[in-house]
Amino acid sequence: MDSADGDLRTVGILGGMSSESTVQYYRGIDAGINEERGGHAAGQVLIRSVNFADIEGFIADERWDAAGDYLADAAGDLDAGGADFVVMATNTMHRVTPAIEDALSVPFVHIVDPTAAAIADAGLDTVGVLGTRPVMEGEFYAGRFADHGIDVVVPDAERRQQVHDVIFDELTKGIVTDESRVAYVAAIEELVDAGSEGVVLGCTEIEMLVAQSDVPDTPLFDTTALHVADAVDRCLGVVASK
Ligand code: GLU
Repeated sequence: MDSADGDLRTVGILGGMSSESTVQYYRGIDAGINEERGGHAAGQVLIRSVNFADIEGFIADERWDAAGDYLADAAGDLDAGGADFVVMATNTMHRVTPAIEDALSVPFVHIVDPTAAAIADAGLDTVGVLGTRPVMEGEFYAGRFADHGIDVVVPDAERRQQVHDVIFDELTKGIVTDESRVAYVAAIEELVDAGSEGVVLGCTEIEMLVAQSDVPDTPLFDTTALHVADAVDRCLGVVASK
């Protein structure tokens, strides 16, 4: 759907996973477009927000087929509403990307793709990943990086559980603590010791907890910011969404 001035594309955001990060997508897309266009320019944005309790249940029980059906339905709403392309504001549920893509007649922008492009632009090829357990342990995530020629390192099992628990017990509820920041910085240092040249913030809420200034010597790749920047380029037509 074209905007009144003729060339802004409409982005569909599959959100609510959690709303803490969906808000960052909405505001980030508007800010990126306004930075380019000035005045009162803002994005044409459709948001289809889901009940995060359903998502938490799918993840806890590893009911990926049900999750795929559920998110395919929601993605279909964005398609029917006129989205020119769709982004999903979470890393974890990219586990069911094929089901979502099957439900769409418009492009789906996988969160790993702009992240991998930024890592390649930085000249790196081995990165640590912090996120939920499915993200740190699933082939769907590391495999997508491997397709881009990037190797992934993850924390040990105990640290993975801690990083996962902070996401569900705190960040997705809007809770940010110094204690968890210290744990995440320790996790990043361990990833560097294990050979990571940089670290992917592979959960869309981690930007609430850890900033580049917390680990000045380790390049961070924030999936939320990189996904949003890519969406802005597509809205502006800088990057084609075929
Ligand atoms: N938003 C998070 C992510 O990027 C975690 C919450 C969820 O599982 O949806 O993976």
